[in-house]
Amino acid sequence: MPAYHLTPIRRYFLANIQFSSGCPYSCEFCDIPALYGKNPRLKTPAQVLAELDQILAGGATSVYFVDDNFIGNQKATLELLPHLIEWQRAHRYPLRFACEATLNIAKNERVLALMREAGFVTIFCGIETPEPQALRFMSKDQNLRMPLLEAVRTLNRYGFEVVSGIIIGLDTDTPDTADRIIDFVQASEIPILTINILYALPRTPLWRRLEAEGRLLPDEGRESNIAFRMPYESVLDMWLRCITTAYEPAAVYERYVYNVEHTFSNRLPFPTNRERASWRNVLMGLAILGRLFWRVGIRGDYRRTFWKAALPMLRAGELEALINTAVVSHHLIEFTRQCARGVRESSFYAPEAPAPPEALAG
Ligand code: SF4
Repeated sequence: MPAYHLTPIRRYFLANIQFSSGCPYSCEFCDIPALYGKNPRLKTPAQVLAELDQILAGGATSVYFVDDNFIGNQKATLELLPHLIEWQRAHRYPLRFACEATLNIAKNERVLALMREAGFVTIFCGIETPEPQALRFMSKDQNLRMPLLEAVRTLNRYGFEVVSGIIIGLDTDTPDTADRIIDFVQASEIPILTINILYALPRTPLWRRLEAEGRLLPDEGRESNIAFRMPYESVLDMWLRCITTAYEPAAVYERYVYNVEHTFSNRLPFPTNRERASWRNVLMGLAILGRLFWRVGIRGDYRRTFWKAALPMLRAGELEALINTAVVSHHLIEFTRQCARGVRESSFYAPEAPAPPEALAG
């Protein structure tokens, strides 16, 4: 049992739990199979529930399953989910869950229905690229089991907001790749995409291939340790174009509004929960709203965009959706502006990570 009682869980936007470790797939860039194995090691449902008891006692309202692939062992996931549902029902759904899973989860509607029932609301999927030949080249064929947009829509239909990883700098990239990524961002309506430049991690098939090809470089002064097929500056330009287009305020708000209408509305009607609706949480929510109104709604340079989305949500009483939309959007917009000024890095795997932008939620 992790010593959850030593962590001020209340102060975190998301609490963390781990059910399984390892992944049966072999995506070229990924170090998870080498680090943790291809046959996921598992905790028992009883152990997971005991940890959830502790996390709930610590005051969490949202919990992220940090497993690199929540369906790495689908049979075990199917065994766990009924226990999660029972626990949530017994406690009147105090927690919302998020996880990471391969996109082929969209093929298993039995898992999706149980996850919805268990209170999952967000799934991070490593979509990586909208280009099918690139997915094949990186050995990520599991993303091609159904058309990408159809998979995203299926997840939305079960009330899951999709978060997507996207990689730039692949050997298959061409000057048109940025256009295809931007088209995919718009068509998928995915609000949050972690758009990163490829970085070769040790113990990956990618590392071994590039080492054999003599294409590993020292990363000092660069955002990656890879000699790309395209010129380095072109890769950086593509990355910057993708993030500045994706996180232009009107664009990110438009995608969130789509999800409020077409995804959040498909979620389980959760019962009112006394802990979630405690005075402490209500006051925290009102404090965040106050900061949002002041910093974004009054002082912000995209305040028109904010109010266009916020007013219908306020009228509908969707305060949680509004806080979620506005806080996350603010972070993404600020992050992107810092990137454009050269303050932030283009790879989460680059050695140094600067401080995060000013927080609204803390
Ligand atoms: S599916 Fe995800 S965790 Fe598994 S090998 Fe591929 S990138 Fe890694």
